[in-house]
Amino acid sequence: MRRVLLWFKQDLRLDDHPAVQAAMAADRLLPLYVFDPALLQPGPLGSRRLGVHRARFLMESLAALDGELRQRGSGLLVLQGRAEQLIPRLVEQLDLDEVLTLDEIAPEECAQLAALQRTLGPALQRLPGNEMLRAADLPCPPAQLPGVFSRFRELVEQRLSVFQPRPAPARLPALPDNASAYFGALPSLSQLGLGEPIGVPNSAFPFSGGEPAAQARLRDYLWLSQGVRQYQETRNGLAGSESSSKLSPWLANGSLSPRRLAAELRRHEAQYGSNDSTRGLWQALLWRDFFHWTLARHGAALFRGDGLKATARAPRQLDQRFEQWCQGRTGMPLVDAGMRELAATGYLSSRGRQVVAAYLVGDLQQDWRHGAAWFEEHLLDYDPASNWGNWAYLAGVASDPQRRPTFNALRQARQYDPDATYVSLWLPELRDVPQALRHTPFLLSHPQLDATGYPRLQRIPEDWKPYLPSAA
Ligand SMILES: Cc1cc2nc3c(=O)[nH]c(=O)nc-3n(C[C@H](O)[C@H](O)[C@H](O)COP(=O)(O)OP(=O)(O)OC[C@H]3O[C@@H](n4cnc5c(N)ncnc54)[C@H](O)[C@@H]3O)c2cc1C
Repeated sequence: MRRVLLWFKQDLRLDDHPAVQAAMAADRLLPLYVFDPALLQPGPLGSRRLGVHRARFLMESLAALDGELRQRGSGLLVLQGRAEQLIPRLVEQLDLDEVLTLDEIAPEECAQLAALQRTLGPALQRLPGNEMLRAADLPCPPAQLPGVFSRFRELVEQRLSVFQPRPAPARLPALPDNASAYFGALPSLSQLGLGEPIGVPNSAFPFSGGEPAAQARLRDYLWLSQGVRQYQETRNGLAGSESSSKLSPWLANGSLSPRRLAAELRRHEAQYGSNDSTRGLWQALLWRDFFHWTLARHGAALFRGDGLKATARAPRQLDQRFEQWCQGRTGMPLVDAGMRELAATGYLSSRGRQVVAAYLVGDLQQDWRHGAAWFEEHLLDYDPASNWGNWAYLAGVASDPQRRPTFNALRQARQYDPDATYVSLWLPELRDVPQALRHTPFLLSHPQLDATGYPRLQRIPEDWKPYLPSAA
C-alpha cells in the first residue's frame, strides 16, 4: 500500500502537472496546500508579502482546486503554518511513504525545500517546476544562459514546439482513511485579518481565481474571441480586459500551465496561421522564462539594491515621495492613475507598470526595491522572478548590460492615453478639469487646482516641455 502526500504550492491545477501524474500510481493520496500566515506580516521593506487582492484570488484558486479534486474522488487539505514543520508531522501521523511536489527556483522557496529534504530524505520527490522550458529543454546549463533577452530568445526559440502537456486525470486515488479528521473550511479573508476587497466596476481583470476560470479565459482569448490575433496592436492598452491576454494571475499561482498555453498557441497558429500578434505572445512567454531562469541562476542577488550589476548605482533614497507614489498622489496623473488602479484592483497593464516603476526610480530617485515590494503586496499576478526581474531591469541593475531605460512620463501619457480616458477613469477629481489639461493639471492656477483636491507636481521636468499643451 503506497501512501503519498501531494504538496501543491504555486501549481494549483491538475492539468499538465508532473507531480499529479506521478501521484496516480499511489494507493492512497493526500493533496495538501500550506498557507503561511507570516506572509501577511510586513516584510523588511515595509510592505506585506501578500495583500488582499492576491489573497482573495488564492482562496478562490484553492476552493476551485478542492472542487476539481472532489470530482475525482479526492479533496484538498489546507493547513496554516510552516510547511517544513507541518509536512514531516503529517507524514509521521498518517504513516505516509512519500511526498511529491514541484521544484522551485526562488531562494526562500528553495531553502524551504532543502530543509524538508534534510528531514524527509529520499521520501521527498521533486519534479520539474512551473517554467515553460524546463532545465532539460535548455540548450545549455542554466548558469551558461545569456544575460541578455534577445540572445536568450535566439538560443531557445527553436525548442518551443515540443510540449505535449498531459491532461488532468479522470480519477485520483482515494484519501488515506485516517485523513478526514484534519480537514476543515478554508479561512475567510476576514479571518486572515484582511477584510473583503471592494469590487471595482472598472477593473481590467474582472475574472476569478482557479483552474476552470483559467481554462475559460485561455479558450476565449485563443479560440472564441481570438483576441490573440490583435495582441500586438492592443498590448500597450491601459484599460479594459481585452487589451492583453490577462493570463498572468493564473500563470503566477500555477492554475494555468505555461506549457498548456504554449501548446494551445501552437495549435492556434497551426489552424489560423501565425502573425505578428501570435509571435508577440510567444515573445511575452519567453520574457517570463528569461526572468525565471535569471532568478534560478543568480538567486538572492536579484533582490539586492545594486542587483546583478554589483557596480551599478541605482538610487537609494526613500522619503515622502515614495509614500505619495504608493498613494497615487505624486501630481503626475498617468502615474497616479496607475497606482490607484493597482491598489484598487491588484492589476496594472504592462505599459502602466513600466511607467510607474520608471517614474519612481528615474524621476523620484527612490529605492527601486521598495517599489518592487509594494508591487509584491498588491499585484494579483506577483511572481518573484518576473516582478524583481522587471524592476531590476528598469532600475538599470539587471543582467542586461544596457544603461537604465529612460521613460518620459508625459510623452507616454500623450502616446498611450491621448484622450485622457484612462486618467479620468482612476482620478475622479480631474473629471471636471478641461480634457486638454487632464495630463497637466499642474498648469492650472493655484486656486483652480486646489479646488480639485489633486496635488501639485513639485517640478516640471525639462524633457516634458515638448509635450505640454501648446498654449503653455
Ligand atoms: C515593474 C514590473 C513588474 C512586473 N511584475 C510582474 C509580476 O510580478 N508577475 C508577472 O506575471 N508579470 C509581471 N510583469 C510583467 C507584465 O507586466 C505582466 O506579465 C503583464 O502585464 C500581465 O498581463 P497579461 O497576462 O495580460 O500579459 P500579456 O501581455 O498577455 O503576456 C502574456 C504573458 O507573458 C508573460 N509576460 C509578458 N510580459 C512579461 C514581462 N515583461 N516579464 C515577465 N513575463 C511577462 C506573463 O506571464 C503574461 O501573462 C511586470 C512588469 C513590470 C514592468
